[in-house]
Amino acid sequence: MKHLIYADNAATTQLDMDAFEAMKPYLLGEYGNASQPYSFARTARKALQESRRLIAECIGALPEEIFFTSGGTESDNWAIKGSAFSDSEKRTMITSTIEHHAILRACADIERLGYPVTYLSATSSGTIDPSELSKWINEKTRLVSIMMANNEIGSIQDISALADIAHSKNVLFHTDAVQAVGHWPIDVAELDVDMLSASAHKFNGPKGIGFLYVRKGTIIRPYCSGGGQELGMRAGTENIAAIVGMATALKKNISELAKSTAHLQYMEDCLINGLRKNQVFFIRNGSEKHIPGNISLSFAGYSGESLLHRLDLMGICVSTGSACDGNSTQISHVLQAIGLDEEIAKGTIRISLGKYNTEDDVNNIVSALVKIIAAYEKKKT
Ligand code: PLP
Repeated sequence: MKHLIYADNAATTQLDMDAFEAMKPYLLGEYGNASQPYSFARTARKALQESRRLIAECIGALPEEIFFTSGGTESDNWAIKGSAFSDSEKRTMITSTIEHHAILRACADIERLGYPVTYLSATSSGTIDPSELSKWINEKTRLVSIMMANNEIGSIQDISALADIAHSKNVLFHTDAVQAVGHWPIDVAELDVDMLSASAHKFNGPKGIGFLYVRKGTIIRPYCSGGGQELGMRAGTENIAAIVGMATALKKNISELAKSTAHLQYMEDCLINGLRKNQVFFIRNGSEKHIPGNISLSFAGYSGESLLHRLDLMGICVSTGSACDGNSTQISHVLQAIGLDEEIAKGTIRISLGKYNTEDDVNNIVSALVKIIAAYEKKKT
């Protein structure tokens, strides 16, 4: 089998081996239901408590402020709908045009139910200008939701400045931090957010598990009804193995953050310099402040889809647009929102490097792109 070069870490990441090992006992012998009072369930209950404590510690929260969910999509839907339905006086929401579909489609759902939503536009580097937010926020606004890091172009927002504006008008602030948690330092007190979404499979944890941080005292409606799990806010028997895997992966990524950031920055530089040295022309999308390793490149005159398939034939996984739009040939809403010219946007690929990528991987990606582009050029002449 061809050696796989996985460079689509913004779509999902490889499960960390320590996380996998930590999960095993809860998939096998320790299968007790954490809500049961007998002693057999005690190990599962303790693992649940310890995982909640570890995760809270990683983001500067209290354990009772962490609510386990099935991932980023559920956390985002809960933040939007749970806020909208909790205050009949304040019914309007503010978000941005560059959010993930988990936010945009949740907003479309509430709009259909009569909750107006304002969509702030982004700058060409994919950031939201806090002064734009000031213009639109008013006494009817219930929630502002702005993502911390964009999944397609990696741009990082000034979340504390945006949250400040929301709080000055007594409005709740949520951030979709699915691409940031485990990859960027996060302290919810410093950011001053009321809610924050995260998803384990983006930081080398298992799929189908995530959490919503909800600041103590924040009033939102429960996500679903049933048993009394998660303080009665999100019913359903807890997936202990996945929760333990998520906590282990997050703790490990946070403790290695400085090292992996330096490694990713180095590889990013190798990739960009490698393409330049070979006179491959491209536009780099996103802002200076971005998630390390998230590299969105536009090759004018080429098809991003065709680049993706040619790289795939060479054993290299990258993405066009966002992962959730993987089968679509439409220009992504993010590239449209940052005002990228259609012809340039069509030639965009996202290379997202992760902690397991090596310098060799990057050199191979550069050589592959150089070869593919040279072949295109030859065809043209
Ligand atoms: N929000 C952002 C910014 C994302 O990148 C993603 C996944 O790509 C999600 C939300 C959805 O997360 P999940 O796949 O855990 O449902």
